[in-house]
Amino acid sequence: CGIIGVTGNGPVVPRLIDSLKRLEYRGYDSAGIAVQDETGIRRRRAKGKIRNLEAVLLEDPIKGHVGIGHTRWATHGAPTQANAHPHKAGRVCLVHNGIIENFAELKAELEAEGRVFESQTDTEVVAHLLDHNLSEGMAPLDAFKATLDRLTGAYALAVLIEGEHELILGARRGSPLVVGWGEGEMYLGSDALAVGPFTQHISYLEEGDYVAMTRTDARIFNAKGEPADRAVVKVAASS
Ligand code: GLU
Repeated sequence: CGIIGVTGNGPVVPRLIDSLKRLEYRGYDSAGIAVQDETGIRRRRAKGKIRNLEAVLLEDPIKGHVGIGHTRWATHGAPTQANAHPHKAGRVCLVHNGIIENFAELKAELEAEGRVFESQTDTEVVAHLLDHNLSEGMAPLDAFKATLDRLTGAYALAVLIEGEHELILGARRGSPLVVGWGEGEMYLGSDALAVGPFTQHISYLEEGDYVAMTRTDARIFNAKGEPADRAVVKVAASS
């Protein structure tokens, strides 16, 4: 339902939470975040309100300069902690808005190669498929493109890959996603409001676009895999 990603130059957890609170107006049934540092990826999730997620984090804190967050509006799988995003498979941890229409077919294929699923969501197949492609030796961006090419349905995605600790990958088809430009850090959001606490300078991704985002740059590609220029626009400040 709502997505935020930050490649930051300082701790991002409080800021992910701040952003998720701005997205509460959209409605949701669970929430979660994941961060990455040199030692790996950690995630925390909770059913219900953002304050439940905050309670989990108080009990069991995580830290990092690069992270993603999500508010979920369940379409496939009950609103439980296990079905809350981010979803993890091997080196991949990601959040998703929308519906993967061909998830059952992809899941059967991935299960046939011995992969075990932890949730009832359509989303988890994306994490497994990307991890599968990475384990075949593909570079992150190629593996991501190959994954997107197999998906039918609607998605906005924000992705962490273990070991790529300054990178967030994003993609959109059918569900909106924006890139936010900061000073020595970058943002990904499901709308301008999500990145509103951090920047007013955003690029709207177009249908089929995907992006590789570091702390200082965002490389945007169109559905054909060609580098794409998307205008940076200034939006009104949100309070
Ligand atoms: N289809 C996904 C799920 O049910 C994503 C829902 C959303 O957009 O929040 O988990």
